[in-house]
Amino acid sequence: MQVVKAPDLKLRIKTKPIKKVTPELLKTAAEMVKLTESFKDPEGVGLASTQVGRDEKFFIAKSGKKFIICFNPHILSYSPKKKTYFEGCLSIPNIWGETERSTFITVKYEDEKGKKITKKLQGTDAWIFQHEMDHLNGTLFIDHVLKQKGKIYKTVGKDKAGSDIFEPVKLL
Ligand SMILES: [Zn+2]
Repeated sequence: MQVVKAPDLKLRIKTKPIKKVTPELLKTAAEMVKLTESFKDPEGVGLASTQVGRDEKFFIAKSGKKFIICFNPHILSYSPKKKTYFEGCLSIPNIWGETERSTFITVKYEDEKGKKITKKLQGTDAWIFQHEMDHLNGTLFIDHVLKQKGKIYKTVGKDKAGSDIFEPVKLL
């Protein structure tokens, strides 16, 4: 299993709802968690089905220290209050951008046992969920950055302390 990279059009498909959580889907999701955990710098915090070439509606997302699997996820409501996030994506390596996203959201999904869950998310959890939800609709964070005329950066190396060095990317 590998992460599909932009500009692969597999990242642009709209995923289909899942009728039944099969053992095969659970196995795929578990492999996605392993794959995401293998990214340490930058850290992988989520992965959507489209990023491994699948077309079913699900993703995995880091929540605290562990990963949750979200089948048929939906965002029920977005807070009017927004926050600027510095965002990256495993499918768009070395590129970063500023996005405005809701600080609080209410979400719905089915867990690995098919149990329906509704909850409120905030901060990093809310950001990850919004980012992964976008993937399931064929949207990438860079689309938001361009629309919102936010800043885009690329990593050009490391400083002596081992931190990333960012350089602004100029667009036409
Ligand atoms: Zn992503």
